[in-house]
Order: sequence, then structure tokens, then C-alpha cells
Amino acid sequence: MKILVTGGAGFLGSNLCKKLLENQENNVICLDNFSSGKKENILELMHNSRFKLIEHDITEYLDIEVEQIYNAACEASPKFYQSHHLRTFETCILGTKNLLELAKKYNAKFIQFSTSEIYGNPLQHPQHENYFGNVNTMGVRSCYDEGKRAAETLCFIYNKEYNVRTKVIRIFNTFGPNMREDDGRVISSFISKAIRNEDIEVYGDGTQTRSLCYVDDLIDGILKMMNSSDDIIGPINLGNNYELTMNELAQKVIELTGSTSKIIYKPLPQDDPIKRKPSLELAKELLGYVPKISIDEGIKKTIQYYNSLKTTSKNS
Ligand code: UDP
Repeated sequence: MKILVTGGAGFLGSNLCKKLLENQENNVICLDNFSSGKKENILELMHNSRFKLIEHDITEYLDIEVEQIYNAACEASPKFYQSHHLRTFETCILGTKNLLELAKKYNAKFIQFSTSEIYGNPLQHPQHENYFGNVNTMGVRSCYDEGKRAAETLCFIYNKEYNVRTKVIRIFNTFGPNMREDDGRVISSFISKAIRNEDIEVYGDGTQTRSLCYVDDLIDGILKMMNSSDDIIGPINLGNNYELTMNELAQKVIELTGSTSKIIYKPLPQDDPIKRKPSLELAKELLGYVPKISIDEGIKKTIQYYNSLKTTSKNS
């Protein structure tokens, strides 16, 4: 199978490429413009003859014949996408349209990496796929939220008008190896601070919630979606539905790292969702998806990863 993974050097993309290459029949082409992806994430894959990297920005059309497309390309961390509002918006819209054209040309199956940000600051809890969301069109998150919403719309248009085999997954907060230490998201920030015994910064009063999924579970769900029948187009939520406050998370990270870090409080960023938890009923019913890795287990594996980075940088 000839497979294209856009954003293949990013956090999710690189974990996905690695998993896909475990199947000896797969050839994986990774596209990345390295706006947030990192060469380090794919270094070990570069030795594999079935893996190919093309440095490319998806806002430009690229013609390559493939059978499956995973569109993971987009800066996903608020810190990164809020530094590049227009680029983020264009990646979502122009980039997704270019890839849908490619899927149309080669009759490739197409998965759009959508997001829980579709629901904005949700007024429904947990979030079911039929909830339309509560999104600010003009806020600091809008380039990502509205870009991703429009990208979903593009998928449904190409599916209806051109019979492109599109699938949309809405990914909730995910963490694990290959997420940049300087990514700014909560797990990478808390763990990298904790292992250095630096203050952990909790934004707001820390009562806001998230439901965090370990990356291996998410990749399992993504593959289940790709391998599902063409009539399953989504959107389908993927993630973990164990919900906790950011205060609880900070405490957990301190305990599991054995750190002497203190928790300090900083202002809550604009439009930061107050609570978030996926309904996973549809994912279970249609894909048989049930996350298996507990938050504690996931955090322990992630601590090992960030510790290994510390060792590598010391030795180099
Ligand atoms: N957060 C925090 N400290 C940090 C980074 C994030 O308290 O150093 C909070 C943030 O305000 C949000 C939650 O953790 O309420 C998750 O943030 P993240 O950026 O990981 O993802 P998102 O807000 O997109 O869900």
C-alpha cells in the first residue's frame, strides 16, 4: 500500500508513520514543511527503504500517486498556531483542498485529522459528534478552530459531490513521545518542568478540565477508522474520556516524576475551554475503539521519553 502522511514529522504524524511501517507491505511518504515538525522525530525511520521524506508545504499542490492519505499537517499547539494565524488557516483550507484533489484524482482513501476544537468552549458535556459547538470566529484560537471546521466541510463536499472516500476524526487532547518539549501544551510543559524541578505553571485557577489520551491508543483508533468501510465518513471523536482538572494533572505529574517543583498560577489564556471530554460511544459502536492506556501509565512512558531527551542533549 502506498500511503501519504502529511505532517509526518510532527507529533502524531511521526508516531503514525512508525506504526504504518510495521506492516512490511506499506510504503510511507512523509510530507512536512517543518513549521512545527522535527527531523529528530523521523531520524530512525529514514533508514527504512519503505519510508520517504518530501519537504513540502501542503498549501502548494503536489501530484503523487497514493492509495491512502492521512492529513495530519497543521500546527496544533495554541502556542504555535497563535504565532501564525494566516498560515494556520491556509494550511487547513488550501492544504486540505489540495489533498482532497489528490484523493479525487487517484481514488485514494482520505482521513482528515480534525479536532475537539471544533466544539470551541463547549456548552454540552461530554461532547457528542452531533453538537455544533461554541466557537469564537474572531478569537485567538479562531484561525485553528474555524480552519479545522472549514476543512471538515471540504471533506463532506468532496465526499458528496465527487464521491471521494473521505473520513473525519475529531482528535481530543493527546500526548506522548515526539511532542516537542517547547510545544507549550500542557503535558509537555508540565513534565519538562517537573523533571528539571522548575515551577509548574497552571493557567487560571486550574479547575478547567481536559481528557487526555496516550498516543498509542489514538493511533490505534486512526488505523481502525482508515480500515473501516467507505460509508463510515464521520465525524467520529477519538481520544480518552477520563477527565481531570489541570490542578489534578499538575499534582499527578509532580508525584510520578518525584519532582520538587511547586505549582504557580498564571492568567488563563483567552477562549481557553473550561471543560472538555469526548463521548466515545460512536467510536466504540462503529470502530470497536476503546482506549486502553491509563493516564498514569501514559505519563510514565512520556516521562521516560523526556528523560531520554535530557540524556541525549547531555551526551551531544
Ligand atoms: N495549561 C496550563 N499550563 C501550561 C499549558 C497549558 O495550565 O503550561 C492549560 C491550558 O490553559 C488548558 C489546558 O492546560 O486549559 C490544556 O492546554 P493545551 O495547550 O495542552 O491544549 P488545549 O487548550 O488546546 O486543549
